Amino acid sequence: MSRREDMLKEMELTPTWRLREPAGAAQSAALSAAAPAQTETPCPQAVPAARPASEVEARRSPDERRTAIMRMDWADLKNAVAECLACPLHSKRTNTVFGVGDENADWMFIGEGPGADEDALGDPFVGQAGKLLDNMLAAVKLKRGQNVYIANAVKCRPPGNRNPEAEELLKCEPFLQRQIELVKPKLLVALGRVAAVSLLARDASIASLRGKVHQYNGIPLIVTYHPAYLLRSLTEKARAWEDLCFAVKTMQDLQSGAAART
Ligand code: SF4
Repeated sequence: MSRREDMLKEMELTPTWRLREPAGAAQSAALSAAAPAQTETPCPQAVPAARPASEVEARRSPDERRTAIMRMDWADLKNAVAECLACPLHSKRTNTVFGVGDENADWMFIGEGPGADEDALGDPFVGQAGKLLDNMLAAVKLKRGQNVYIANAVKCRPPGNRNPEAEELLKCEPFLQRQIELVKPKLLVALGRVAAVSLLARDASIASLRGKVHQYNGIPLIVTYHPAYLLRSLTEKARAWEDLCFAVKTMQDLQSGAAART
């Protein structure tokens, strides 16, 4: 068996790879507690209580919130996500799902949002879709946590695994932007239309976005299918393989300084 066939087998692509289908078909409450009674001499203990993070958040304008997030280091960013109440998705979450992997990775894979397994465990891409993603990574000699960082466009699970809504993506986007700034990957791979549309800030089909090198704040970005979609649409696995090969070639070009741009 050839190396290519080995890789296809690792990705569970072998049956659909043979279909040779054409490519292209196919992210205050106000504290109004009574003020302490005034006394003539100030009481040393009467220092106003620190405002809860959620109240501070609610008082910020979107620009102030973004600016604050863009100054965060990893620890502050993780805490901010864990405490975030900025969109309605916070109300049903079990855990926020921040991201996982090598914080200095060259490769950064970005999915849509947590599913039930991710919400329960607090890690992205666990369960069947995560297993498939791991297989996809292994097929191109990559491994989660080793020069690979994985995150989602939204950090809290949309109820019933629905797509995140535009406002939810907008509220969560500064967190993802800061993650990308901190990782400084050489290449971004958007997994699925929601992640791609969120990163590229324009609506388009997966078919029209695949096979090109896009740009996100100066970082090359490639679009492929979300593993959860591939589990439901076996015939698209061959196209996902094409995308991975394109991503590997693009990384090689980047390392040699010759990546194409759209
Ligand atoms: Fe905050 Fe993002 Fe969760 Fe919404 S999805 S509550 S913006 S962390």
